[in-house]
Parts: sequence; C-alpha cells; structure tokens
Amino acid sequence: MIYTRDLKKPLTREIPIRRTPRKHSIWPLYIVSLVIGISLLGVVLAKTHDSLSRTSVKAPIITEIPPPDPAVHHSELEAQTASDWIEHTVKSGDSASAIFDQYQIHSSLLKINNIPVSKKVLQNLYPGQKISLKLDWKGLEELYYQISETKRLHVTRDAEEYSANIIQDAIETRRLAATGTIDNSLFLAGKKAGISDSLIMQMVEIFSYDIDFALDIRQGDQFEIIYDEYFANGAPLKKSGSILAARFTTKNKTFTALKYEHNNKIGYFDAKGRSNKKAFIRTPVRFSRISSHFNPKRKHPILHTIRAHKGVDYAAPKGTTVKSTGSGKIQFIGRKGGYGKVIIVKHAGGYSTLYAHLSKFKKGLKRGKSVKQGQAIGYVGSTGSATGPHLHYEFRVNGKHKNPLTVKLPNASPLRNQQLREFKEKIRPLLVQLSQPSLAAN
Ligand SMILES: [Zn+2]
Repeated sequence: MIYTRDLKKPLTREIPIRRTPRKHSIWPLYIVSLVIGISLLGVVLAKTHDSLSRTSVKAPIITEIPPPDPAVHHSELEAQTASDWIEHTVKSGDSASAIFDQYQIHSSLLKINNIPVSKKVLQNLYPGQKISLKLDWKGLEELYYQISETKRLHVTRDAEEYSANIIQDAIETRRLAATGTIDNSLFLAGKKAGISDSLIMQMVEIFSYDIDFALDIRQGDQFEIIYDEYFANGAPLKKSGSILAARFTTKNKTFTALKYEHNNKIGYFDAKGRSNKKAFIRTPVRFSRISSHFNPKRKHPILHTIRAHKGVDYAAPKGTTVKSTGSGKIQFIGRKGGYGKVIIVKHAGGYSTLYAHLSKFKKGLKRGKSVKQGQAIGYVGSTGSATGPHLHYEFRVNGKHKNPLTVKLPNASPLRNQQLREFKEKIRPLLVQLSQPSLAAN
C-alpha cells in the first residue's frame, strides 16, 4: 500500500548529479546543507527521465492505520450526505455576519454570539479557513470552523438552544518507510519516493559529516528512511516528519544513522553507537577560494624567505563570519605579531585550532570561555602580515600542525555504558526494518 499525497509546494531547483568523480571537496559540509536548503527556493530543473525512474515507495511499516483521505476533514460528517452541508471558504474581508447573511441565517448568528467561546472564534475568521454549515428550515443546525490544523469550533443546536465547544484533534503518528534510487538528483528521487523536501533535508543534515551532497552524489546512489509523520483528523499536518533511521549508499559505501534521544538531546548514531557527527567541521569560514595551502616549504609572500605555511588561507570578504570548527575553550584571544588579531581554541583530546588576521572578535569572548562547534567567534580581516582579507586557519594535534584540509577528523563522543545498552535496545526493531530485503533490494 502506498500513501500518496501532494507535496506542499513544488520543488524549485534541483542540484544536478555529478557523474565524474572528484578527489575531495573542501566546501564545508554544513554550508553545503544550507546551500541545498536554500536552493530549494530556486527554479525547477525541467528534465525528467521517466524511463530511468527506479525510485519506489515501500509499504508503510505500520499498516493498521488507514490512509489519510484529504477529502474527509470532519470524521463526524462521514455519515452525512454531502448535500446537507455547505462548505464556505473564508475570503479576505469576510466576516461571520456577511457569511451568515449570505445564507440567510443571521438570526442564528445572534444566538451563537451569546456564547462567549463561539463569539470569540467567529470574530476572528482567517481567509482560507473553512466553515461547514448545516442548514434546515429553522436556520443553522450545526457548524464547524477549522481554527487550526488540530482545532475546530463545533456549534450544535438542541431544540432552540445552541451550544459551542472547541474540539482538539488528537495528533496521530504514523511510522512510514521510503526508499529511493538517484537518477537525476536527490530531491527528484525524494519526490518520487513520496517524501517531503523537509525529510530530504533532514537526511542531508544527518549524513552531512560523511557525505558531500553537493559533489559526491552519483546516479545509482540509494537511500532508505524510516520516519514518523503526523496526522490529525485523517489529514497530514504541516509539521514535518521526523527521521528515525536512515541508510545511504554511495560509491559502494553504506552509512547508517539511528535516532536516539537522551536527556532531551536528539542525536543520530550508527549501529555501534558512534555519533554521526565529527568533533570538528572541516572549514571555519565560507570562502571564495583557497589562497594558500598548507605547505611546510613555502616562500613567505611578504618576508620572501622559506617559511613553512602551517595552515590554510581562505580568501573571503572582510567581515565574513569565522566559526569555531569544534567545541572547546578559548586559549588565546588578542594580537600576536604577524597573526594580527588571532583566536586559539583548545579542544578535548589534544586538539587546538587557530584563526588569524581577524578584523574583529565576536563580542563577549574572552580567554577561558567555552565555545561550541559552529559558533561565530570573529570576522575575516587582514590584521598582521596579510596582503588581503583572508582567514589563516591552523589545526594542531598534540601541538603538531596538520593539514586542515586532509587531517582525519575525530568523531564526536560515542555512546557508552548504560546509554549504549539503552540505545542498542531501542534501535533493534529499526535495524530489523532497515535490513528487510524488500527495502534493501530497491
Ligand atoms: Zn596563512
């Protein structure tokens, strides 16, 4: 059984698949996710190759729940014949008074307005919302007004008296699964698999430390997700679904991520409890180009002597935000010779990072203060020995300089002991679902 529904809005721009391999990418992963997100607001890529389509949606894992029927908004109305009910969509400038006049039931409105709850709701009608009216020879018999996705006003008449109450619909969670194979682009594959852009973005985010979705995705790459979607009154809610488990196969490598919530913190881990996150993001700044690579034997551009270049220079406009690549504590903040305005952050495990030639520091930072991964710490400039605005970035492991572009980044802290046991218990059914041959076969 396939649950189908219209996506909320059309896809706006597709990122084409690169079909030739690239050695490595230096574009920061977190920015890539953002770029992909933003690019959804662009223009649709027109080319589709239906003949190549191999994407499929698998049956939902929980099948007891009937599929949503968007036509049925009020389950209570099911027994009624459609002709008994008038459905009025509130137009801009509409008032309850105008609507009741239109259906010649103004006297009913006067009575309904004696009830505080209905008076309050009907004074604040919103364009696009629907009012369902059931009429008889005495006037209004019954009314529903959809206040929000999960809230409705219900007015009924008993003898000559009206009564009103607010119905709060229960939010129902449905566990669904989808698989896709990429032909043209990830977003097109997601659309074919019947999943929302938001779920695709979640998946991109989850795997962003391992996969560069702008550069590494190939035709034939496959994904598989298990996710929760939310419904009220049979209709899907705007609130986006949430991925519980995901698997992505690219270049013969398979990555698995399983959701785990602990102490109100949500994280994704592989089956062994290792975080999907790295302790560092690769790049501290959104740059235009690399103006100088890590090079132990470089000729210094100003001093013209052989001097090791112990970091990477990222050319970027003055004022561009510089982010701490990992969580840690500020070890140094201030001016230091050729570095100009510089920040050194000390991280756990013997790591430290350095950010030089800054135009200014982020306000409120001082020595000893904790910073988080991705937190803004300063702005690109050309203080110290710099020929133009750029960020000089160094990465040290136990005091030794490493190439920031290629150094193997450590994983964020894995789950241990009791947490790991609890995690393994929780993910067992998800792993079984992910491993189903029917899901994996596509
Ligand atoms: Zn440099």
